[in-house]
Amino acid sequence: MHVIIDGQRVPVTEGMTILEAAEQVGIHIPRLCYHQSLTPAAICRLCVVEWEGARTLVPACVARVQDGAVIHTESERVRRARRTILELLASTVDLSEAPDLLAYAAELNADLDRFADGARREFPVYDDNPFYIRDYNKCVLCQRCVQACGNDMQFTYALTVSGRGFYSRIDTFYHAPMPETTCVFCGNCVAVCPTGALKEKGPFPSPQSPVLDARPSEP
Ligand code: SF4
Repeated sequence: MHVIIDGQRVPVTEGMTILEAAEQVGIHIPRLCYHQSLTPAAICRLCVVEWEGARTLVPACVARVQDGAVIHTESERVRRARRTILELLASTVDLSEAPDLLAYAAELNADLDRFADGARREFPVYDDNPFYIRDYNKCVLCQRCVQACGNDMQFTYALTVSGRGFYSRIDTFYHAPMPETTCVFCGNCVAVCPTGALKEKGPFPSPQSPVLDARPSEP
């Protein structure tokens, strides 16, 4: 069984994803919500590739190989889609601490000011525990933190997604401050966050760190 990726014949096995097949031969496909230790959520669409014969671009992190499939990971259609995703993200959130995304943007010649007149997603910075802060002005809603807190790593379920559409956000249940949730401060959410939205305060918790009631107001 094999596929053709960017002109290369790649041996594959049943059930392998396009992302895995490409990585076998050193072809790097950009990704955002994908993390090797988490269940692929396939929500960011940055890893889309062109599959000859398919009407739409497909997400490489979940699309399974088929024998003889011909895949393009760097076609102009693919690059345009990724570029637009990055430009839209930059219009709503602060990507200044997301080095991988900024590198992809530079590589694709993305204009991060293209939608500069668009509405920003703005939040207070939640500093409600001694260990880490939550700055959702930098959150791209990849949901890695929710997965790490849930079934993929810690099984504590302190985090969830609340709201709809533009008003979606990562949240705690009933918007509770983190110390009032099931959070055990394991740090897994901070470790998987790709944008600096979750930041550890340092190796030792400060006894002076304020524990604030950070309940956000409803949009
Ligand atoms: S806080 Fe970080 S890990 Fe969680 S959804 Fe936002 S960007 Fe992703």
